Amino acid sequence: MNWLNITKIKTAISISLALLACFNVEIAWANSQGHNDSSSSNILINVEKSTADTSEKWVVTYTLTTPAKTLAFVRNPDTSRTTRWFAQDSDIEIVFDDAKHQELVRSKSGKSLSTVSFLMTPTYKHLGKDYAPFSPFSDGGNAFHSGRLFACANACSEEDNKWQLTLNVPSDEHIVLNGKVTKNSVSWTDNNDGRVVYVGRQQPIITDDVVALIDPGLPKSIKVSLEEDIPNMMAFFSHSLNPLKGEKPMLLASYANIDAHSTQGGTLPNQIFMHWNRQDLNEQANNSSFVNQTLWFFAHEVAHFYQPGSTEGVSENKEQSWLHEGSADYFAAIAMNFLYEDANSYVESRMTRAFESCTEGLAQTTLAHAYKNGQFNLYYSCGMIMHRAIDSVVQQKTLGEESLFTVWKRLQKAVHSGMPPGTATFLTLLEPYNAPELIKAINNATSDDALKAIQGIETLYQFPE
Ligand SMILES: [Zn+2]
Repeated sequence: MNWLNITKIKTAISISLALLACFNVEIAWANSQGHNDSSSSNILINVEKSTADTSEKWVVTYTLTTPAKTLAFVRNPDTSRTTRWFAQDSDIEIVFDDAKHQELVRSKSGKSLSTVSFLMTPTYKHLGKDYAPFSPFSDGGNAFHSGRLFACANACSEEDNKWQLTLNVPSDEHIVLNGKVTKNSVSWTDNNDGRVVYVGRQQPIITDDVVALIDPGLPKSIKVSLEEDIPNMMAFFSHSLNPLKGEKPMLLASYANIDAHSTQGGTLPNQIFMHWNRQDLNEQANNSSFVNQTLWFFAHEVAHFYQPGSTEGVSENKEQSWLHEGSADYFAAIAMNFLYEDANSYVESRMTRAFESCTEGLAQTTLAHAYKNGQFNLYYSCGMIMHRAIDSVVQQKTLGEESLFTVWKRLQKAVHSGMPPGTATFLTLLEPYNAPELIKAINNATSDDALKAIQGIETLYQFPE
């Protein structure tokens, strides 16, 4: 994603940023569907980082307990392993299988594979619909995505969802895994979409809310924002919804500061990350639109942490993504308005654009089918308008005693007590407010009839008048 271009296309800014930012959430959600807690794959993955002079070397080694003809990868967003991974044995190669749309490791001479090693390229590589394999920091640190390494003997099936990884790093560096700092070597069991692991010399900032690795080379204003705004946002949601339980989330913000034009943000369970692969951040940091977009991105992602049980605890399927994405966007709007006095006009303009983009989109697809038709952004835009209406009606009906947050806390409780997540449960929680016109408009907005859907959104946009 190129923020230079984005700033030129102002109308597209907010929606596409949130979409980009959140697309990874949807990947995570989709991939974790149907995954059982299955048996471990018979492959050990060892990652070794070493340094010689100033260059870093990252080698991944797969050891198969039962030799196999080929090694297949779980994630195949493109063909870049074929050019960025170098086999340490001249008989081994990575090829792209066009028919299967996946990269495969094989022996040129047809031998079975038992141990294979590759030297990886530890630079940033944008993968369209997947997490970047490496996110380098400007001080020589690096963060890698473990899911990129998941592989299976011959072919991957849904049962392959458990990997044993070991990571070794030079003695003057350390690892930050799941919020904990370790020296030399660490082993862990990984699954689903994997996680981001940091390797380098930077000590994380550990606060009551978060474990953060923030690139020291980032412009001061962005560093301050990351160090202060995110904890403030967390405090806000912790108060408005419920405090987080369990392990502290990790925040990684890396800046490669190179001549490139890419920025990507994403989330994995309990992790938010942002990588800037560009060199104009000092100029951008003074641009209020850029600053607001960045803050919105963080607020949206932080809001997800406070939804019940992540996305699986909110929506039953992708058709209902307006619930978790729309609420995260609207929660971001509330947090921005609450935390930043001068954010109001930005939030308002974003709301207007969301309404416009939603109604335009609903003329082409229904909300339920938007994800299939390349219009995932509608779950953010329409969903935000829907949540804004619910908030207005709830506040009006209860004379300000309750709000959308009250409804969401009840949803959290309902899901924890065994009610199924999803639209039906959510709408049941709106019944006590005696607002049939609100329910009707939501039903219309989510209906299969384009005209009704647009009318529904128009009605919702005008609530509570
Ligand atoms: Zn999201």
